[in-house]
Amino acid sequence: MYYKEIGLGLGAALVIFLAAKGYDVIPLIFLGAAAGLLYHFLHSKGMVKSLVIKSNEEENNITFADIGGQRAAVEELKEALDFIKHYPQARRLGVRPLKGILLTGPPGTGKTLLAKAAAGYTDAVFIAASGSEFVEMYAGVGAQRIRNLFRLAREKAQQSGKNRAIIFIDEIDVLGGKRGKVNSHLEYDQTLNQLLVEMDGIKGDERVNILVIAATNRADLLDPALLRPGRFDRQVRVDLPDKEGRLEILRLHTRNKPLAPDVDLEAVAKETLGFSGAHLESLANEAAILALREGASAIGQRHFMEAIERVMLGAKLERRPSKEELWRVAVHETGHALVSEWVRPGSVTTLTVTPRGGALGYFRQQHEEDSYLYTQGQLEDRLAVLLAGAVAEEVVLGSRSTGAANDFEQATRVAETMIRAGMSRLGVAGSAELPEETRHELLREILSRQEERVQQYLRDQREKLIRIAQELLAAERLTGERFRELLHGQESAASQQEKWAAGANK
Ligand code: ATP
Repeated sequence: MYYKEIGLGLGAALVIFLAAKGYDVIPLIFLGAAAGLLYHFLHSKGMVKSLVIKSNEEENNITFADIGGQRAAVEELKEALDFIKHYPQARRLGVRPLKGILLTGPPGTGKTLLAKAAAGYTDAVFIAASGSEFVEMYAGVGAQRIRNLFRLAREKAQQSGKNRAIIFIDEIDVLGGKRGKVNSHLEYDQTLNQLLVEMDGIKGDERVNILVIAATNRADLLDPALLRPGRFDRQVRVDLPDKEGRLEILRLHTRNKPLAPDVDLEAVAKETLGFSGAHLESLANEAAILALREGASAIGQRHFMEAIERVMLGAKLERRPSKEELWRVAVHETGHALVSEWVRPGSVTTLTVTPRGGALGYFRQQHEEDSYLYTQGQLEDRLAVLLAGAVAEEVVLGSRSTGAANDFEQATRVAETMIRAGMSRLGVAGSAELPEETRHELLREILSRQEERVQQYLRDQREKLIRIAQELLAAERLTGERFRELLHGQESAASQQEKWAAGANK
C-alpha cells in the first residue's frame, strides 16, 4: 500500500548516504527525477492503471426473483444457463460450450441484474467491466486489459474454489463497434480482436469455464464477428417493462418499505408508462424520502404521485405521449392486429402501447415459416397488414399520422419485390429498364389495391376495432389469446377467412 512512500524514502536515504560518502550524486538525482516524471505521466494518463483491470466483484446475492417485469428475458436466459449448468452431459455429446450471451435493451432495464443473477444461478464468480474502460488512446492497452480481465476471472474463480466465472461487459458497443469504419480507431479494433481471441480460446474443458455476458442498447452497431456462432450467439432482449412488469418491480422495491393503507401500486404502475426498472427504483426511493421529510411513519399514495413527477424531471425522460397520441397508437396497432388475424388466423402474439425503441407501440405476429419463396398471396397479405395501421387511424380518427412512415417504407419494399418478381400488371419486365414513372404507377397500383381492401374490411370492423383498442389502451398490452378472445366474441375466424378469400379473388 505504501510502496511508493517506502521507495521514495529509501531512495532519498541512499542519495544522502552516497553524498555523505563523497560520491557525486547529481546524475543520480537527475535520473531519479526523470523516472519520477515518467511514472507520473503514465499514471496520470491511466496507462499503468489501465493494465490492471478493476475487479468489480462484489457481494453478489442477486437472484432472478429480484428482477421484476422481465419474465421472457429471465426464461430465455435461464434456458441458456441450464445448458451451462449441465454442461458435462452436453459435452459427452460433443456440444460446444456456450461462450457469450448478449443482452440488448434500453438503459436501466435490469441487464446488470440479470448477469448477476446468472452468476448466482450457475454458482459462478461475477466480474464486471464496462466497454468504455477498454478504450484508451494508447495502442495495445485495451487488448492488454481484455487479457487481464479473462486472467482475473480465472484467478478469482480458483481462489473461491469455483469452476465457473461470468464476465459481464456493459456497453459492449463502445469496444465492439463495426471494425474498419471511418469512426473506428485502430486501437478499438485491436481491443475487439483480443476479445474475439479470448472468446475463441474458451474450450469448455478448462478448470474454470468462462461465460461472457455483454450488454448493449445498440446491437445494430456491433461488429458482425461478435454475433457469429461461438461468440455471442444468444441474444436476449430486455425491454422496458409494461404495466404488469412495472407493478412487479414496484412491489420488489417497496417490499421493505412501510406503505400506508391508501397506497395503490397499480395506479402508480399505470402512471409510469415508459419508466425503466431503474426509474421505478428511484421512484420508490424518492417517495420514501418525501415521506421522511414530512415526518410521516409510512409512505402514502401522494408521496408516490409526487415522486413520479420528480423522477420524470430528474431523469429527463423523453416526453411522454399524450392521451390522444396513445389512443391513436392503440388504434394503429389494433388495426395491424385485426388484419393480421384476418389473413392468418392465430398469427397475433402481442400488441402493446408501451414505447420501445423509436416506436410508441408495437404489434408482434408469429412469423410465417421461414421460407425462401413467397407467393403473391403471401406478399399481398403482408402488404395488407403493413397498411392496416394507417388505415385504422383514418377509419377511426379521420386522419393519418406520421406514425405510419416506417410501415409505408416496408410496404414499398415489398411492392418493389413484387414488381421485380413479375407480379405487377406488366408481368415479367426488367425492372431496371422500367421508366421511373411506370415504376411509380405500378407501386401505386399494388399498394392501393391492398389499401382499398383493408379499408373496406376495417370499416366493416370499426366497432370491434374501437372496442379492442380501448381494451388495449386500458391494459397497455394484450396477448394474442386475449386479443382473439375479444375478437371472436362476435365473429368466427372461419367466416372472416371466407370473406378475405372472396376479396382476394376479386
Ligand atoms: P445500463 O444499461 O444503464 O447499465 P442496466 O439495464 O444494466 O442498465 P441495471 O444496472 O441492472 O440496469 O439496473 C439498475 C437498477 O435499477 C438496479 O440496481 C435495480 O435497482 C433497478 N432495476 C432495473 N431493472 C429492474 C428490474 N427489472 N427489476 C427490479 N429492479 C430493477
